[in-house]
Amino acid sequence: MFKMLSFIKPYRIHASIAWMFMLIELLLELMLPFIIAKMIDDGIQELKLDVVIHWGLVLVAASIVVFLSGIINTFYAAYTSQNVGYDIREKLYSQIQSFSLSTLTRFQTSSLVTRLTNDVAQLQQTIFMGLRIMMKAPLLIAGAIIMSFIVNARLAMFFIIVVPLLLFFLVWIFKKAGTAFVSVQRRLDQINRIMRENLGAIRLIKVFSRKQYEIKRFNKESVSLQKQTISAFRLIETSTPITMLIMNFIIMTFLWFGSIQVQTNTATAGEIVALINYTTRIISFLSIFSMMIMIFSRAKASAGRIHEVMETKSDDLNMNVSFKKNRDVINHGHISFHHVSFQYPDAQEFALKNVSFEVKSGETLAIVGETGSGKSTIVQLIARLYDCSEGNLCIDGMNIEDFAVKSLRDDIGFVLQESHLFTGTIKDNIKWGNKLAAEEEVIEAAKSSQIHHNILKFKNQYDTLIGQKGVNLSGGQKQRLAIARALVRKPKILLLDDCTSALDVKTEAKLLQSIKPMKCTTIMITQKISTAMNADQILVMNKGEVVGCGNHEELIHNCYLYRQIYETQYGKE
Ligand code: ADP
Repeated sequence: MFKMLSFIKPYRIHASIAWMFMLIELLLELMLPFIIAKMIDDGIQELKLDVVIHWGLVLVAASIVVFLSGIINTFYAAYTSQNVGYDIREKLYSQIQSFSLSTLTRFQTSSLVTRLTNDVAQLQQTIFMGLRIMMKAPLLIAGAIIMSFIVNARLAMFFIIVVPLLLFFLVWIFKKAGTAFVSVQRRLDQINRIMRENLGAIRLIKVFSRKQYEIKRFNKESVSLQKQTISAFRLIETSTPITMLIMNFIIMTFLWFGSIQVQTNTATAGEIVALINYTTRIISFLSIFSMMIMIFSRAKASAGRIHEVMETKSDDLNMNVSFKKNRDVINHGHISFHHVSFQYPDAQEFALKNVSFEVKSGETLAIVGETGSGKSTIVQLIARLYDCSEGNLCIDGMNIEDFAVKSLRDDIGFVLQESHLFTGTIKDNIKWGNKLAAEEEVIEAAKSSQIHHNILKFKNQYDTLIGQKGVNLSGGQKQRLAIARALVRKPKILLLDDCTSALDVKTEAKLLQSIKPMKCTTIMITQKISTAMNADQILVMNKGEVVGCGNHEELIHNCYLYRQIYETQYGKE
């Protein structure tokens, strides 16, 4: 929690102004009962109207200053907390962006979303409250006790006994509630995860008629969150009636002993009124204090969760920009794997075992093989999403680890298996691959990926919105748009991870034909032999190993697995 306070540093002037006005407000508020006591004892009791008017005017002036100080304090507290929230969110977001894929898998996406939204909001609220009333509450309680001693030391002795006991009790509750709120946040993560999964798979849920099942799954988590939250709040709520009971007991004591003292002339009526006034203030601020405890407990849990992300090492390979050799761009796009083995972090088995092959500059390599045979892993290693566990992966004869990762990736066009499009226009989505691309380059990329004619059929053509508020594209259209996004980068190396599966054979052939003149080294993962046949070379993968490499004719004769796949798709003859 205290580490989070460092985010307030840039706004220390605003925070100090908020504090200063809070202190002015506090001091004057503490003076108000004192002024009322003076008005009663020196004015009303003595029947002196001018004294009543004098103290009355002081009371009005003090109240106006309290009011104005409150407004200024709120303004600066809001300014500071909003800015700190923004800064934390920004730092957290860039920290998450700097994680490698393996680190990212340690945090659930839903949990990261909760941390970026709910947890940051929790901290923001706490900072606001901190500058507005959190510090005011203990100071006012302490100030009210001191003022009570000034007014009537004998009666004020009660506070010395009762208030520390109450505080001890509240701190105990605070600690317990802190632990309870950590569980609440965890449950919230779960709920977010289920909601994300459900909303993302709404079509699947409908066609599988799993609505009731999913509703039950959601309700189960929801009830669990409800129970956990209720039990955390219950803990906090027990503090309020106990606090009220004790403080009401003090008021009764003041009235009882006060009336005796007034009768024996050892106290005045004004003093008793002032003491009761201080007691009610202490009561109201003790309840605020209990509320603050709750907010603080939640903020502590949130701060811990934010801190966990911030403390995680930024380990994206992007960060370790290494220039061991004085070259950081791909010149030709010649790719060679030398006895490469790879094991995913935390995986039991190797996903790639002793893989060796070569793709010459500008050539096309097709990779075929069963699901899970390691095809995607190969292309991910080329984009350096992971580093090889053993062996060497070289591009243009240089070890891939000697390239600056950003420059390496700038020269790569990668189309993933699942085409992901962003909210925005068709043009925005293609340009996402290369922000500097001119209009003609966008159209050229769309033409090459065989989507140009489809785009022209839309009313707003390249400015057509896609996503929730725009047109819905078919699977094949999405795939071609994702390919256009990669082509607009004019990559030296093009990696196509089974991204033409939804295209018909004719369109796919045209697409591959239009990529050829681009002279980029292309690696395409495919399930279709008809596609693989057009490549210069075909790599056959099985259980992480290369079981065949060559052109179609060669493989038909000397690779059993390839022949099997071929026969399944074309028949034995
Ligand atoms: P393919 O593309 O041929 O379907 P992959 O390269 O995706 O195969 O996967 C190869 C193997 O690595 C599979 O056994 C798969 O379960 C495993 N694998 C893939 N991705 C991960 C990951 N992120 N973490 C752990 N294991 C993985």
